[in-house]
Amino acid sequence: MPRRRAEVATPPMAVDPGPNQLEHAPCGFLTFCDDGTLTWINQTLLGMLGYDRKELIGQHLEQIFTIPSRIFYQTHWFPLLRMQGRAEEIFLMLRTKAGGDVGALVNAVRRGEGAAAEYDCVVMRVQERQRYENELLRARQAADRAAEELRAQKRELEQANQLLQAQAEELELQQQQLHEQAIELEDAGDELRAMNEDLLAQQEEANRLRLEAEEANQAKSTFLAVMSHELRTPLNAIAGYVQLLEMGIHGPVTEPQLETFGRITRSQRHLLRLINEVLNLARIESGRVEYTREDVDVRQLVEMVSQMVDPQLRQKELRLKVELPDGLSAYADAEKVQQVIINLLTNALKFTPAGGEIRVTGDAEDGQVALRISDTGIGIPSDMLPTIFDPFVQVDAGRTRADEGSGLGLSISRDLAVGMGGSLTVESKVGVGSTFTLRLPGADGESRSNG
Ligand code: ADP
Repeated sequence: MPRRRAEVATPPMAVDPGPNQLEHAPCGFLTFCDDGTLTWINQTLLGMLGYDRKELIGQHLEQIFTIPSRIFYQTHWFPLLRMQGRAEEIFLMLRTKAGGDVGALVNAVRRGEGAAAEYDCVVMRVQERQRYENELLRARQAADRAAEELRAQKRELEQANQLLQAQAEELELQQQQLHEQAIELEDAGDELRAMNEDLLAQQEEANRLRLEAEEANQAKSTFLAVMSHELRTPLNAIAGYVQLLEMGIHGPVTEPQLETFGRITRSQRHLLRLINEVLNLARIESGRVEYTREDVDVRQLVEMVSQMVDPQLRQKELRLKVELPDGLSAYADAEKVQQVIINLLTNALKFTPAGGEIRVTGDAEDGQVALRISDTGIGIPSDMLPTIFDPFVQVDAGRTRADEGSGLGLSISRDLAVGMGGSLTVESKVGVGSTFTLRLPGADGESRSNG
Protein backbone atom coordinates (compact mmCIF):
# COMPACT_ATOMS: atom_id res chain seq x y z
CA MET A 1 0.00 0.00 0.00
CA PRO A 2 2.43 2.48 0.92
CA ARG A 3 4.37 1.82 -2.28
CA ARG A 4 1.28 2.18 -4.41
CA ARG A 5 0.22 5.26 -2.72
CA ALA A 6 3.65 6.55 -3.29
CA GLU A 7 3.50 5.81 -6.92
CA VAL A 8 0.22 7.66 -7.22
CA ALA A 9 0.92 10.67 -4.99
CA THR A 10 4.42 11.62 -6.07
CA PRO A 11 4.56 13.44 -9.45
CA PRO A 12 7.68 13.07 -11.60
CA MET A 13 10.25 15.52 -10.05
CA ALA A 14 13.31 17.19 -11.59
CA VAL A 15 16.21 15.84 -9.61
CA ASP A 16 18.67 18.57 -10.74
CA PRO A 17 16.90 21.83 -11.36
CA GLY A 18 20.24 23.11 -12.93
CA PRO A 19 21.30 26.66 -13.50
CA ASN A 20 18.79 27.33 -16.20
CA GLN A 21 15.95 27.36 -13.75
CA LEU A 22 17.65 30.25 -11.91
CA GLU A 23 18.12 32.30 -15.09
CA HIS A 24 15.34 34.74 -14.21
CA ALA A 25 15.34 34.41 -10.45
CA PRO A 26 14.87 37.75 -8.62
CA CYS A 27 18.57 37.82 -7.73
CA GLY A 28 21.83 37.22 -9.54
CA PHE A 29 23.69 33.92 -9.53
CA LEU A 30 27.19 33.12 -10.61
CA THR A 31 29.70 30.33 -10.25
CA PHE A 32 33.47 30.60 -10.52
CA CYS A 33 36.42 28.27 -10.21
CA ASP A 34 39.23 28.43 -7.70
CA ASP A 35 41.34 30.45 -10.19
CA GLY A 36 38.53 33.04 -10.44
CA THR A 37 37.24 32.03 -13.91
CA LEU A 38 33.52 32.55 -14.30
CA THR A 39 31.79 29.32 -15.26
CA TRP A 40 28.16 30.34 -15.02
CA ILE A 41 26.14 33.53 -14.60
CA ASN A 42 22.34 33.88 -14.71
CA GLN A 43 20.34 36.18 -16.92
CA THR A 44 19.26 38.43 -14.05
CA LEU A 45 22.87 39.31 -13.22
CA LEU A 46 23.80 39.66 -16.89
CA GLY A 47 20.91 42.11 -17.25
CA MET A 48 22.05 43.94 -14.12
CA LEU A 49 25.55 44.36 -15.61
CA GLY A 50 24.59 44.83 -19.27
CA TYR A 51 26.69 41.92 -20.62
CA ASP A 52 25.97 38.99 -22.93
CA ARG A 53 26.79 35.67 -21.41
CA LYS A 54 29.48 34.87 -23.91
CA GLU A 55 31.28 38.09 -22.99
CA LEU A 56 31.75 36.89 -19.42
CA ILE A 57 31.90 33.07 -19.29
CA GLY A 58 35.58 32.09 -19.16
CA GLN A 59 36.60 35.60 -18.03
CA HIS A 60 38.00 36.33 -14.60
CA LEU A 61 35.47 37.24 -11.99
CA GLU A 62 37.30 40.52 -11.29
CA GLN A 63 36.06 41.90 -14.60
CA ILE A 64 32.72 42.68 -13.00
CA PHE A 65 34.29 44.35 -9.92
CA THR A 66 35.32 47.97 -9.37
CA ILE A 67 39.00 48.46 -8.49
CA PRO A 68 38.41 48.76 -4.71
CA SER A 69 36.24 45.64 -4.86
CA ARG A 70 38.98 43.79 -6.75
CA ILE A 71 41.45 44.66 -3.97
CA PHE A 72 38.91 43.64 -1.33
CA TYR A 73 38.26 40.40 -3.22
CA GLN A 74 41.98 39.54 -3.34
CA THR A 75 42.89 40.52 0.20
CA HIS A 76 39.80 39.58 2.23
CA TRP A 77 36.82 38.02 0.56
CA PHE A 78 38.35 35.23 -1.48
CA PRO A 79 40.89 34.18 1.22
CA LEU A 80 37.97 34.05 3.73
CA LEU A 81 35.77 32.07 1.35
CA ARG A 82 38.54 29.65 0.61
CA MET A 83 39.36 29.12 4.25
CA GLN A 84 35.88 29.08 5.81
CA GLY A 85 33.86 27.69 2.88
CA ARG A 86 31.28 30.56 2.99
CA ALA A 87 31.00 34.27 3.26
CA GLU A 88 27.69 36.04 3.79
CA GLU A 89 26.34 39.50 3.23
CA ILE A 90 29.56 40.86 1.85
CA PHE A 91 29.08 44.18 0.14
CA LEU A 92 30.82 44.50 -3.18
CA MET A 93 30.70 47.23 -5.78
CA LEU A 94 30.13 45.74 -9.25
CA ARG A 95 31.13 47.44 -12.50
CA THR A 96 28.67 47.33 -15.43
CA LYS A 97 29.79 47.03 -19.00
CA ALA A 98 28.92 50.68 -19.53
CA GLY A 99 31.27 51.59 -16.59
CA GLY A 100 28.53 52.20 -14.01
CA ASP A 101 28.62 51.05 -10.42
CA VAL A 102 26.12 48.63 -8.93
CA GLY A 103 26.22 47.96 -5.19
CA ALA A 104 25.46 44.34 -4.24
CA LEU A 105 25.32 42.04 -1.24
CA VAL A 106 26.97 38.75 -2.04
CA ASN A 107 26.49 35.39 -0.30
CA ALA A 108 29.01 32.79 -1.41
CA VAL A 109 29.54 29.13 -0.68
CA ARG A 110 32.34 26.72 -1.66
CA ARG A 111 31.80 23.41 -3.27
CA GLY A 112 34.69 20.96 -3.21
CA GLU A 113 38.23 21.41 -1.96
CA GLY A 114 41.51 22.87 -3.14
CA ALA A 115 42.06 23.67 -6.80
CA ALA A 116 38.94 21.75 -7.80
CA ALA A 117 36.72 23.84 -5.61
CA GLU A 118 33.91 25.85 -7.15
CA TYR A 119 32.11 28.79 -5.63
CA ASP A 120 28.41 29.62 -5.98
CA CYS A 121 27.34 33.16 -5.27
CA VAL A 122 24.00 34.87 -4.84
CA VAL A 123 24.15 38.55 -5.77
CA MET A 124 21.48 40.91 -4.45
CA ARG A 125 21.34 44.41 -5.73
CA VAL A 126 21.27 47.00 -2.94
CA GLN A 127 20.01 50.09 -4.67
CA GLU A 128 18.17 51.31 -1.57
CA ARG A 129 21.11 50.74 0.67
CA GLN A 130 23.32 52.73 -1.70
CA ARG A 131 20.78 55.49 -1.77
CA TYR A 132 20.56 55.49 1.99
CA GLU A 133 24.31 55.38 2.27
CA ASN A 134 24.61 58.28 -0.12
CA GLU A 135 22.01 60.19 1.80
CA LEU A 136 23.69 59.26 5.02
CA LEU A 137 26.96 60.46 3.58
CA ARG A 138 25.36 63.67 2.42
CA ALA A 139 23.68 64.07 5.79
CA ARG A 140 26.96 63.41 7.54
CA GLN A 141 28.71 65.88 5.28
CA ALA A 142 25.96 68.40 5.94
CA ALA A 143 26.24 67.66 9.66
CA ASP A 144 30.03 68.08 9.42
CA ARG A 145 29.56 71.34 7.60
CA ALA A 146 26.97 72.48 10.12
CA ALA A 147 29.29 71.44 12.95
CA GLU A 148 32.13 73.33 11.30
CA GLU A 149 29.87 76.33 10.84
CA LEU A 150 28.80 76.01 14.45
CA ARG A 151 32.43 75.87 15.51
CA ALA A 152 33.18 78.95 13.37
CA GLN A 153 30.18 80.75 14.85
CA LYS A 154 31.31 79.70 18.30
CA ARG A 155 34.78 81.06 17.57
CA GLU A 156 33.21 84.29 16.30
CA LEU A 157 30.99 84.44 19.34
CA GLU A 158 33.98 83.86 21.58
CA GLN A 159 35.88 86.63 19.81
CA ALA A 160 32.86 88.93 20.05
CA ASN A 161 32.56 87.98 23.67
CA GLN A 162 36.22 88.77 24.29
CA LEU A 163 35.80 92.09 22.50
CA LEU A 164 32.72 92.85 24.55
CA GLN A 165 34.56 91.93 27.72
CA ALA A 166 37.49 94.17 26.76
CA GLN A 167 35.04 96.99 25.98
CA ALA A 168 33.28 96.38 29.27
CA GLU A 169 36.60 96.56 31.09
CA GLU A 170 37.50 99.74 29.24
CA LEU A 171 34.11 101.20 30.05
CA GLU A 172 34.58 100.28 33.67
CA LEU A 173 37.98 101.97 33.60
CA GLN A 174 36.52 105.07 31.98
CA GLN A 175 33.73 105.08 34.50
CA GLN A 176 36.30 104.85 37.25
CA GLN A 177 38.25 107.73 35.73
CA LEU A 178 35.09 109.79 35.33
CA HIS A 179 34.24 109.07 38.91
CA GLU A 180 37.68 110.23 40.02
CA GLN A 181 37.43 113.34 37.84
CA ALA A 182 34.01 114.06 39.28
CA ILE A 183 35.48 113.84 42.77
CA GLU A 184 38.35 116.11 41.73
CA LEU A 185 35.90 118.55 40.19
CA GLU A 186 33.81 118.49 43.30
CA ASP A 187 36.91 119.23 45.38
CA ALA A 188 37.88 122.03 43.00
CA GLY A 189 34.31 123.31 43.18
CA ASP A 190 34.48 123.32 46.99
CA GLU A 191 37.78 125.18 46.80
CA LEU A 192 36.33 127.68 44.34
CA ARG A 193 33.29 128.18 46.52
CA ALA A 194 35.52 128.78 49.52
CA MET A 195 37.64 131.21 47.51
CA ASN A 196 34.52 132.93 46.28
CA GLU A 197 33.22 133.27 49.81
CA ASP A 198 36.62 134.68 50.86
CA LEU A 199 36.50 137.11 47.96
CA LEU A 200 33.00 138.19 48.83
CA ALA A 201 34.04 138.71 52.43
CA GLN A 202 37.06 140.70 51.29
CA GLN A 203 34.90 142.73 48.93
CA GLU A 204 32.47 143.46 51.73
CA GLU A 205 35.35 144.47 53.97
CA ALA A 206 36.77 146.66 51.20
CA ASN A 207 33.37 148.27 50.67
CA ARG A 208 33.04 148.87 54.36
CA LEU A 209 36.53 150.41 54.52
CA ARG A 210 35.84 152.53 51.44
CA LEU A 211 32.62 153.81 52.98
CA GLU A 212 34.46 154.56 56.20
CA ALA A 213 37.20 156.36 54.27
CA GLU A 214 34.62 158.33 52.28
CA GLU A 215 32.85 159.30 55.46
CA ALA A 216 36.14 160.26 57.11
CA ASN A 217 37.11 162.28 54.05
CA GLN A 218 33.78 164.02 54.03
CA ALA A 219 34.11 164.75 57.73
CA LYS A 220 37.61 166.09 57.17
CA SER A 221 36.48 168.35 54.33
CA THR A 222 33.56 169.62 56.33
CA PHE A 223 35.79 170.22 59.33
CA LEU A 224 38.34 172.09 57.23
CA ALA A 225 35.71 174.22 55.56
CA VAL A 226 34.09 175.15 58.85
CA MET A 227 37.40 175.79 60.57
CA SER A 228 38.75 177.86 57.71
CA HIS A 229 35.67 179.99 57.72
CA GLU A 230 35.85 180.41 61.50
CA LEU A 231 39.54 181.36 61.24
CA ARG A 232 39.09 183.89 58.48
CA THR A 233 36.79 186.14 60.52
CA PRO A 234 39.24 186.88 63.38
CA LEU A 235 42.09 187.13 60.86
CA ASN A 236 40.26 189.83 58.93
CA ALA A 237 39.60 191.57 62.25
CA ILE A 238 43.36 191.47 63.05
CA ALA A 239 44.09 193.13 59.68
CA GLY A 240 41.47 195.80 60.36
CA TYR A 241 42.80 196.62 63.83
CA VAL A 242 46.43 196.78 62.58
CA GLN A 243 45.35 199.18 59.86
CA LEU A 244 43.63 201.39 62.49
CA LEU A 245 46.79 201.37 64.66
CA GLU A 246 48.95 202.24 61.60
CA MET A 247 46.66 205.14 60.84
CA GLY A 248 47.42 206.47 64.41
CA ILE A 249 43.88 206.23 65.61
CA HIS A 250 45.12 205.46 69.11
CA GLY A 251 47.88 208.04 69.12
CA PRO A 252 51.15 208.53 67.21
CA VAL A 253 53.04 205.45 66.04
CA THR A 254 56.82 205.14 66.22
CA GLU A 255 59.04 203.81 63.39
CA PRO A 256 59.82 200.47 65.17
CA GLN A 257 56.10 200.04 65.89
CA LEU A 258 55.29 200.59 62.18
CA GLU A 259 57.84 197.93 61.23
CA THR A 260 56.20 195.51 63.68
CA PHE A 261 52.75 196.32 62.26
CA GLY A 262 54.18 195.47 58.81
CA ARG A 263 55.35 192.05 60.04
CA ILE A 264 51.95 191.44 61.67
CA THR A 265 50.22 192.31 58.37
CA ARG A 266 52.53 189.97 56.32
CA SER A 267 51.90 187.13 58.76
CA GLN A 268 48.20 187.83 58.70
CA ARG A 269 48.17 187.71 54.86
CA HIS A 270 50.18 184.51 54.80
CA LEU A 271 47.81 182.88 57.22
CA LEU A 272 44.82 184.10 55.26
CA ARG A 273 46.24 182.71 52.00
CA LEU A 274 46.96 179.41 53.70
CA ILE A 275 43.43 179.21 55.00
CA ASN A 276 42.00 180.09 51.58
CA GLU A 277 44.02 177.34 49.93
CA VAL A 278 43.02 174.79 52.55
CA LEU A 279 39.44 175.77 51.92
CA ASN A 280 39.95 175.40 48.18
CA LEU A 281 41.50 171.95 48.48
CA ALA A 282 38.79 170.82 50.86
CA ARG A 283 36.18 171.96 48.39
CA ILE A 284 37.85 170.20 45.46
CA GLU A 285 38.35 167.00 47.38
CA SER A 286 34.79 166.86 48.63
CA GLY A 287 33.68 167.16 44.99
CA ARG A 288 31.91 170.41 45.58
CA VAL A 289 33.74 172.25 42.82
CA GLU A 290 31.80 172.76 39.63
CA TYR A 291 33.52 173.02 36.28
CA THR A 292 32.09 175.23 33.58
CA ARG A 293 33.78 173.93 30.49
CA GLU A 294 34.06 175.72 27.19
CA ASP A 295 36.61 176.32 24.42
CA VAL A 296 39.45 178.26 26.06
CA ASP A 297 42.16 180.21 24.19
CA VAL A 298 45.20 179.04 26.13
CA ARG A 299 47.55 181.66 24.71
CA GLN A 300 45.26 184.49 25.79
CA LEU A 301 45.07 183.07 29.31
CA VAL A 302 48.88 182.77 29.56
CA GLU A 303 49.33 186.34 28.38
CA MET A 304 46.85 187.62 30.96
CA VAL A 305 48.62 185.81 33.78
CA SER A 306 52.00 187.03 32.49
CA GLN A 307 50.86 190.60 32.94
CA MET A 308 49.77 189.83 36.46
CA VAL A 309 53.19 188.50 37.46
CA ASP A 310 55.14 191.10 35.49
CA PRO A 311 56.04 193.24 38.58
CA GLN A 312 57.53 190.23 40.41
CA LEU A 313 59.43 189.22 37.24
CA ARG A 314 61.02 192.61 36.99
CA GLN A 315 61.79 192.66 40.70
CA LYS A 316 63.62 189.33 40.46
CA GLU A 317 65.20 190.21 37.10
CA LEU A 318 63.72 187.16 35.40
CA ARG A 319 62.94 186.76 31.70
CA LEU A 320 59.62 185.26 30.60
CA LYS A 321 59.30 183.79 27.12
CA VAL A 322 55.92 182.75 25.85
CA GLU A 323 56.12 180.63 22.70
CA LEU A 324 52.67 179.35 21.94
CA PRO A 325 51.13 178.54 18.55
CA ASP A 326 48.10 180.53 17.40
CA GLY A 327 44.68 179.08 18.14
CA LEU A 328 45.88 176.71 20.84
CA SER A 329 42.64 176.10 22.63
CA ALA A 330 41.46 173.62 25.23
CA TYR A 331 38.04 172.44 26.30
CA ALA A 332 38.18 173.48 29.97
CA ASP A 333 37.06 175.82 32.75
CA ALA A 334 38.93 179.09 32.00
CA GLU A 335 39.00 180.27 35.60
CA LYS A 336 40.47 176.96 36.86
CA VAL A 337 43.06 176.87 34.06
CA GLN A 338 44.04 180.42 34.99
CA GLN A 339 44.42 179.40 38.63
CA VAL A 340 46.71 176.49 37.63
CA ILE A 341 48.83 178.72 35.38
CA ILE A 342 49.17 181.32 38.17
CA ASN A 343 50.29 178.60 40.60
CA LEU A 344 52.86 177.21 38.18
CA LEU A 345 54.22 180.62 37.15
CA THR A 346 54.37 181.80 40.78
CA ASN A 347 56.32 178.66 41.73
CA ALA A 348 58.70 179.15 38.78
CA LEU A 349 59.22 182.75 39.96
CA LYS A 350 59.76 181.67 43.56
CA PHE A 351 62.25 178.88 42.84
CA THR A 352 64.31 180.53 40.10
CA PRO A 353 67.21 182.72 41.15
CA ALA A 354 67.60 186.25 39.73
CA GLY A 355 68.71 186.38 36.11
CA GLY A 356 67.01 183.10 35.26
CA GLU A 357 64.51 182.36 32.54
CA ILE A 358 60.95 181.07 32.46
CA ARG A 359 59.51 179.64 29.23
CA VAL A 360 55.97 178.81 28.36
CA THR A 361 55.55 176.48 25.36
CA GLY A 362 52.73 174.29 24.14
CA ASP A 363 51.25 172.19 21.38
CA ALA A 364 48.21 170.15 20.48
CA GLU A 365 48.43 166.46 19.71
CA ASP A 366 46.02 163.51 19.62
CA GLY A 367 43.11 165.69 20.71
CA GLN A 368 45.04 167.01 23.71
CA VAL A 369 46.62 170.33 24.51
CA ALA A 370 49.93 170.35 26.36
CA LEU A 371 51.16 173.50 28.12
CA ARG A 372 54.74 173.42 29.46
CA ILE A 373 56.13 175.89 32.03
CA SER A 374 59.88 175.50 32.32
CA ASP A 375 62.34 177.35 34.50
CA THR A 376 66.05 177.44 35.09
CA GLY A 377 65.51 177.29 38.85
CA ILE A 378 66.76 175.18 41.72
CA GLY A 379 64.96 171.99 40.59
CA ILE A 380 63.37 169.25 42.67
CA PRO A 381 65.32 166.25 44.02
CA SER A 382 64.29 163.02 42.25
CA ASP A 383 63.21 161.34 45.53
CA MET A 384 60.67 164.16 46.05
CA LEU A 385 59.15 163.93 42.58
CA PRO A 386 56.65 161.13 43.38
CA THR A 387 55.13 163.10 46.30
CA ILE A 388 55.49 166.69 45.17
CA PHE A 389 51.78 166.84 44.23
CA ASP A 390 50.64 165.63 47.68
CA PRO A 391 49.16 168.27 50.04
CA PHE A 392 51.62 170.14 52.32
CA VAL A 393 54.70 168.64 50.65
CA GLN A 394 57.57 171.12 50.28
CA VAL A 395 61.18 170.39 49.35
CA ASP A 396 62.64 172.73 51.89
CA ALA A 397 59.90 173.64 54.30
CA GLY A 398 62.04 176.17 56.20
CA ARG A 399 63.04 178.03 53.07
CA THR A 400 59.70 178.04 51.30
CA ARG A 401 57.79 178.99 54.36
CA ALA A 402 59.90 182.12 54.34
CA ASP A 403 58.55 182.61 50.82
CA GLU A 404 55.04 182.32 52.11
CA GLY A 405 54.45 178.86 50.62
CA SER A 406 51.73 176.57 51.88
CA GLY A 407 52.59 173.28 50.11
CA LEU A 408 49.07 173.19 48.68
CA GLY A 409 49.43 174.93 45.29
CA LEU A 410 50.56 171.88 43.29
CA SER A 411 48.06 169.62 44.99
CA ILE A 412 45.20 171.98 44.12
CA SER A 413 46.51 172.44 40.58
CA ARG A 414 46.76 168.70 39.92
CA ASP A 415 43.26 168.07 41.31
CA LEU A 416 41.86 170.83 39.07
CA ALA A 417 43.64 169.42 36.00
CA VAL A 418 42.27 165.94 36.70
CA GLY A 419 38.82 167.44 37.38
CA MET A 420 38.86 168.87 33.84
CA GLY A 421 39.82 165.53 32.29
CA GLY A 422 43.53 166.37 32.05
CA SER A 423 46.71 165.86 34.06
CA LEU A 424 49.65 167.68 35.61
CA THR A 425 53.15 166.16 35.55
CA VAL A 426 56.70 167.29 36.29
CA GLU A 427 60.24 166.68 35.10
CA SER A 428 63.00 168.26 37.11
CA LYS A 429 66.70 168.21 37.80
CA VAL A 430 68.32 169.85 40.82
CA GLY A 431 70.34 172.91 39.80
CA VAL A 432 69.12 172.80 36.20
CA GLY A 433 65.41 173.53 36.39
CA SER A 434 61.91 172.12 36.24
CA THR A 435 59.23 171.65 33.62
CA PHE A 436 55.59 171.30 34.64
CA THR A 437 53.25 169.99 31.92
CA LEU A 438 49.53 170.69 32.08
CA ARG A 439 47.50 168.50 29.71
CA LEU A 440 43.87 169.28 28.88
CA PRO A 441 41.36 167.96 26.37
CA GLY A 442 41.65 169.82 23.06
CA ALA A 443 38.86 172.20 22.05
CA ASP A 444 37.76 170.04 19.16
CA GLY A 445 39.42 166.79 20.04
CA GLU A 446 37.70 163.51 20.67
CA SER A 447 38.78 163.56 24.31
CA ARG A 448 36.26 166.36 24.89
CA SER A 449 33.62 163.73 25.46
CA ASN A 450 35.83 161.97 28.04
CA GLY A 451 36.59 165.15 29.96
P1 ADP B 1 54.24 176.05 47.83
O1 ADP B 1 54.80 176.58 46.58
O2 ADP B 1 53.17 176.93 48.37
O3 ADP B 1 55.21 175.58 48.82
P2 ADP B 1 53.36 174.03 46.08
O4 ADP B 1 52.44 172.88 46.24
O5 ADP B 1 53.04 174.98 45.00
O6 ADP B 1 53.45 174.74 47.43
O7 ADP B 1 54.77 173.47 45.84
C1 ADP B 1 55.24 172.45 46.67
C2 ADP B 1 56.74 172.42 46.69
O8 ADP B 1 57.22 172.01 45.42
C3 ADP B 1 57.39 173.74 46.88
O9 ADP B 1 57.46 174.07 48.24
C4 ADP B 1 58.76 173.52 46.28
O10 ADP B 1 59.60 172.87 47.20
C5 ADP B 1 58.47 172.60 45.13
N1 ADP B 1 58.35 173.36 43.84
C6 ADP B 1 57.20 173.69 43.24
N2 ADP B 1 57.45 174.29 42.06
C7 ADP B 1 58.81 174.34 41.93
C8 ADP B 1 59.70 174.84 40.91
N3 ADP B 1 59.27 175.43 39.79
N4 ADP B 1 61.02 174.66 41.11
C9 ADP B 1 61.48 174.07 42.22
N5 ADP B 1 60.70 173.59 43.21
C10 ADP B 1 59.38 173.72 43.06
